[in-house]
Amino acid sequence: MKMSKMFVQTLREFPSDAEVVSHKMLVRAGYIRKLTMGVYNYLPLMWRVIRKVENIIREEMDRAGAQELLMPFVQPKELWEESGRWGAYGAELMRLKDRHNREMCLGPTHEEIITSIARDVLKSYKQLPVNLYQIQSKFRDERRPRFGLLRGREFIMKDAYSFGTSQEELDKEYKNMWNAYTRIFKRCGLETKAVQSDSGAIGGSVSHEFMVITDTDAGENDVFYCDDCNYAANSNHATSKLPFAKISGDWTEAKIVDTPNTHSIEELCEFLKIPATVIVKSLVYIVDKNPVIAIIRADKAVEETKLMNAVGGTDIRIATAEEIEDIMVKNGFDAERGFIGPNGLTEYNGTPIQFVADETVKDMKNFVIGINKKDMHLVGGNWGKDVELPQNIADIRLAEAGELCPNCGKPLKVTRGIEVGNIFQLGTKYSKPMNAVYLDANGKTQPYIMGCYGIGVTRTAAAAVEAHYDEHGIKWPLSIAPYHVVVIPVSTKDELQMKVANDIYNTLVKHGVEAVLDDRDERAGVKFKDADLIGFPYRITVGKTITEGLVEFKVRETEELSNIKPEEAAEIVVTAVTNMK
Ligand code: ATP
Ligand code: MG
Repeated sequence: MKMSKMFVQTLREFPSDAEVVSHKMLVRAGYIRKLTMGVYNYLPLMWRVIRKVENIIREEMDRAGAQELLMPFVQPKELWEESGRWGAYGAELMRLKDRHNREMCLGPTHEEIITSIARDVLKSYKQLPVNLYQIQSKFRDERRPRFGLLRGREFIMKDAYSFGTSQEELDKEYKNMWNAYTRIFKRCGLETKAVQSDSGAIGGSVSHEFMVITDTDAGENDVFYCDDCNYAANSNHATSKLPFAKISGDWTEAKIVDTPNTHSIEELCEFLKIPATVIVKSLVYIVDKNPVIAIIRADKAVEETKLMNAVGGTDIRIATAEEIEDIMVKNGFDAERGFIGPNGLTEYNGTPIQFVADETVKDMKNFVIGINKKDMHLVGGNWGKDVELPQNIADIRLAEAGELCPNCGKPLKVTRGIEVGNIFQLGTKYSKPMNAVYLDANGKTQPYIMGCYGIGVTRTAAAAVEAHYDEHGIKWPLSIAPYHVVVIPVSTKDELQMKVANDIYNTLVKHGVEAVLDDRDERAGVKFKDADLIGFPYRITVGKTITEGLVEFKVRETEELSNIKPEEAAEIVVTAVTNMK
């Protein structure tokens, strides 16, 4: 490829709306252009990267025994009604109607479609197990599309679905996919950590996310992990053991005390001269429009996904001050945030108020708790006597670094991660409601035992930028770089330089290297800047030293420079590319 012909426009500045490195770099270096919120054009350089990521995925999925197919992007409502997700999937599902007023959606994921295909074809246990995958565009009307390709609304995903006859078969395929994922990300130049996670809208019980660990804003997940054993979990799933704490107050009897202006836990602790560990706090949430009160030890925070799962819902948020006031008034109280408690709260606008107690509160004694009266608290309270312990007791607590590993008891650490892949054990979550069955060896119908396995293709490419860059631009891993090498003649007017540059370029191309010849009549500085920004793994510069038979060879990853013979430079690149294949 001649640079003069290449469809690329690099920018002088980073785009002003970009917050994270990959977004900034990919726009500035001419890889992507935004079409509308969360929707991007993949320009030729980006498309080359995407195709390389896809091909690595393809090779490894095929090697693992999966078979590729392609399902439509537009899906009919009827299948989603069969699975029960037409109602359950929240606002992320992009719904539309055709000219006959038939309802459809843009596929955010394809469990329903693949299950309908399977039940049509896989009628006997003899045909199982099977794993089918596709690489396809997905659409999710994300609440906050951001960070360029990391969280788009339209994005490319590889999604695979396995069908089997037993949990053992599923376990085996799950491990098989786990190993394939490890290889895929490694080949893309990414180190990943597999962490336990919540299954979210996909469902099922066991699931793991593959995280690229990063200390930047691009890591939207908090990952808790233990260095001593292999425990690692997303914050929406992480559990921990708590170090010893005083969880019983010193009062000998329950009484109501004045606690003026103690809106925060700190103020209440200060006023009563007690640690937060003897206070039970009550927080008001709205889950799918319904009020839910979370009750937890006051020094701990609620993890919203865990709380949402404890009551079953698809959307959660903390209640506003106005909503809290309204709930209070409608239950005959006038308290505000800081004084809320479960006693006396029953319903709100015709819906019963639900209560969930975190496991941390059940052993607390002689505690302090809100009683829905402004500037007052109950102290010395006990479950059963003064306050009912809710029946719904669950782990709804956000783990914290320094708490103890649930496996081995060593202190947990926390870091941030970008989720590039996710594997799920679905069991019969789709096969049962969709009546997707096969005949077993005894002639009995059985639902398939399913798994599903996703990789964000475009997110993986962006994550690779997050993991490989410097202030000058991208440092693509060789395996997914749009081109392997750029050959730069310093002066296009210099005949010798041009001849050697052309010779090197031709040799490289002949040996299967994807090379670019920067034949533009530009200053060398401009060409070097673009080469760094675009992120070619290797740069061969043909300048004045060619009269001594030497070119400058640069390795982008390490920024190492050396003056070597043209044949040597070509040889290094050819060898690196050959070894990679
Ligand atoms: P997230 O928690 O980041 O919203 P998810 O858990 O909902 O993602 P999955 O349903 O597990 O996503 O989808 C499989 C993979 O698709 C993810 O691991 C991720 O790599 C990718 N992916 C999901 N949502 C997006 C998005 N909005 N933009 C780009 N890639 C995405
Ligand atoms: Mg996921």
